[in-house]
Amino acid sequence: MSNAGRYQKSDKLSNVLYDIRGPLLEQAQRMEAEGHSILKLNIGNPAPFGFEAPDAILVDMIRNLPQAQGYSDSRGILSARTAVSQYYQTRGIQTIGVDDVYLGNGVSELITLSLNALLNNGDEVLIPSPDYPLWTASVSLAGGSPVHYTCVEEEGWLPDLEELESLVTERTKGMVIINPNNPTGAVYPKHILEGMLDIAFRHKLIVFADEIYEKILYDDAVHYNVAALSDDVLTLTFSGLSKAYRVCGFRSGWMAISGPKFHAKSYIEGINMLTNMRLCANVPAQHAIQTALGGYQSINDLILPGGRLLEQRNIAYKLLNDMPGVSVQQARGAMYLFPKLDPEIYPIEDDQQFALELLQEQKILITQGTGFNWKSSDHFRLVTLPSVDMLDEALHRIAEFLENYRQR
Ligand code: PLP
Repeated sequence: MSNAGRYQKSDKLSNVLYDIRGPLLEQAQRMEAEGHSILKLNIGNPAPFGFEAPDAILVDMIRNLPQAQGYSDSRGILSARTAVSQYYQTRGIQTIGVDDVYLGNGVSELITLSLNALLNNGDEVLIPSPDYPLWTASVSLAGGSPVHYTCVEEEGWLPDLEELESLVTERTKGMVIINPNNPTGAVYPKHILEGMLDIAFRHKLIVFADEIYEKILYDDAVHYNVAALSDDVLTLTFSGLSKAYRVCGFRSGWMAISGPKFHAKSYIEGINMLTNMRLCANVPAQHAIQTALGGYQSINDLILPGGRLLEQRNIAYKLLNDMPGVSVQQARGAMYLFPKLDPEIYPIEDDQQFALELLQEQKILITQGTGFNWKSSDHFRLVTLPSVDMLDEALHRIAEFLENYRQR
């Protein structure tokens, strides 16, 4: 066999895509190496935009460093798991004990772990479209088949429950709910979540509830933890410190299992096995969890009236909607907007190429809509983390690019 054959990537990766850090970012990095300054509006990473972690989190981690040199229990340190279990009790979820909580190197690790422990080749998982693409990628990597259910833009990006149920087959094992949603900013009302849980219950599906943005809410949006709405559906709830506590780099997240766990002994055994195999999550960051959950919730200073995240979302929404042929639903949570480009005005065949041209002409990096498993080349995602001035500059440059694009 030639070396080229030997050094091929594995077949397991043939359907795995993760465009947020894909070829466009590589191109942006090449341009930066050539001396260009690129405005990166592609990744939900608060720190580079001047957001800082609450002091208490840093102090707690530093103080605990001497005790954090060894491996911890595979699931994580007891104080952090107790804090997560207590947090969910205050949110109305009574069935999460300390042993049902698993700490991970970010939610990301736990997403792949939980799917690897469950799926056999060809098992199906329902995932929203658009989605945070790690879910689709991780289902594929685990040998499963992602099946996308549509979130309807005109209805504030809420899932279409009828379509969702029509997609269930014998092989469907789970349903992913990302709420608040990345990339759309939708926050699901109670009746939609109840409808989703009803489908999950009737078809014995496991719910994977990605709630990492649960504390980043705007206006009058209310967040319901899916697991609090039903004791009858096995639910894995995911959250962590990356967004609301602004420490993506610490890689600290958790997963909590609730509902009828007695039916899931084998699956939980699988989860435990993979949890043991990865030894443990980053221990210094585990020490920040109790302080984060129990301390002052400084995220509120950023999302309530006068808060930076709220103002940035407002300006981005306005400037996007002012552009000819561009429309965007207002985000009710998280830190992204997912605008639509009217296909009559912008007949885009390949949205990665579109994003590449924007990068080359205006030195702005966004992620194309198809990177979020959206079906057509007519959307892109913008992060609303940059300051108002930076967003203003970026959106004027995007407007200029679009004007040239229209005149081609
Ligand atoms: N889930 C969603 C919806 C996200 O947007 C992200 C990161 O952007 C993650 C999970 C991963 O988070 P973590 O940093 O905890 O791995």
